Amino acid sequence: MAKGIRFSRHGGSEVLELVDQPAAEPGPHEVRVRNRAIGLNFIDTYYRSGLYAPPSLPSGLGTEAAGEVEAVGSAVSHLRVRDRVAYATGPLGACAELHVLPAQHLVRLPESISFEQAAALMLKGLTVQYLLRQTYRVEAGQTILWHAAAGGVGLIACQWARALGVKLIGSASSPEKAALARANGAWATIDYSREDVVQRVLDLTDGAKCPVVYDSVGKDTWERSLDCVAPRGLLVSFGNASGAVTGVNLGVLAQKGSLYVTRPTLGHYANSAENLQAMADELFALVASGAIKVEIGRRYPLAEVAQAHDALSGRQTTGSTILLP
Ligand code: NDP
Repeated sequence: MAKGIRFSRHGGSEVLELVDQPAAEPGPHEVRVRNRAIGLNFIDTYYRSGLYAPPSLPSGLGTEAAGEVEAVGSAVSHLRVRDRVAYATGPLGACAELHVLPAQHLVRLPESISFEQAAALMLKGLTVQYLLRQTYRVEAGQTILWHAAAGGVGLIACQWARALGVKLIGSASSPEKAALARANGAWATIDYSREDVVQRVLDLTDGAKCPVVYDSVGKDTWERSLDCVAPRGLLVSFGNASGAVTGVNLGVLAQKGSLYVTRPTLGHYANSAENLQAMADELFALVASGAIKVEIGRRYPLAEVAQAHDALSGRQTTGSTILLP
C-alpha cells in the first residue's frame, strides 16, 4: 500500500483526502515511479474545483513529480529500475508516494538536478520553454509582458527571458513580489493591483506596446492584456488564476489592431517522447549553465496538501511549491 491524494467531489481544499492505495503493477508500456518530490501547480486547483474535468471521480491529483523507477513494463526498453526520472504530463495521480504512468511521459534526470529541483522545475520550466520558444519565438531586444511574474512559472520566465536578452515586463500584486521578479531577471515590473498596466506598458515601450503578451491570470487581466499587444501581435492566454476568460467578442481583435490570440497547453507541445526530451534538454541546459535557478518558495508534507492549495490559491506563495511524500 502507498499513500496518495484523492478527491471524490469538487470543491475547496477540504475535498482532498489522503488515502492508502494498492501499489499498481505497470502495464507493458508503463513505469511505476516512487516519487521523492511532487510539484504543486495551479492546474491542480482547477481539477479540484471542477474548472477542469478529471476523467472520472474519485480522482487522483497532480501531474508532476520526480523520483526513482520502481517497476518497468515488459515493452519499456529505455528505462531501468532505480533510474532517476521526472515527469510533468500524463494521467492524474502524481500527488502520491507511487505513480504508474506511460513511459513516454518520463525523462531521465541529470545527476546535477535534485528530485526537489526537478519537481519545482519540470512542469513550469517546460511551460516556459514552449511559450517563449515555440508558441512565439521571442528575440533578443524585444519587450514582452508577463503577468504573475513572481509565481512558479513566472520566476522561470523572468530568468529565461533575461538569458535570451528579452526585456520582460513582469506584473505582480505587491512590491515584494515585484522586487523578487526583478531579482530573477524581469527588466521592469508593474504592480497590477495598484498601477495602470496599459499606461505603464505604453510608457515602458515608448508607445509601441508588446509584440507578445503572456497572460495566465485570465478573467481579471484579459481586457488590459489586449490593450498591451502591439498591432498584429499575439496574446497568449495560458491560464485562469482569477477565473476563465469566456464570451469573447472576436470583433475586439480587429478593433485593437488585428491581434492574434492563442490558448495553448503543455500537453500539445510535449506531445511525443522526442518533443518532451528536446524541451527538457533545453531546460536542463539552462539550469546547468546557471542561467535558471529554481526558487522553491515552500515545502509541505504530502499530508498537508490542503494547506498548500490554500496558500497557492490565496496568492501567498512565490516561486515553486513542492510536496514531500
Ligand atoms: P503561480 O505560482 O503563478 O500562482 C498563481 C499567481 O497568479 C498568484 O501567485 C498570483 O500572483 C496570480 N493571481 C492573479 N490573480 C489571482 C487570483 N484571483 N487568485 C489567485 N492567484 C492570482 O502558479 P503556477 O506557476 O502554478 O501557474 C501559473 C499560471 O500558469 C496558472 O494560471 C496556471 O494555470 C498556468 N499554467 C498553464 C500551463 C499551460 O500549459 N497552459 C502550464 C502551467 C501553468 P500575484 O499575487 O502576483 O497576482
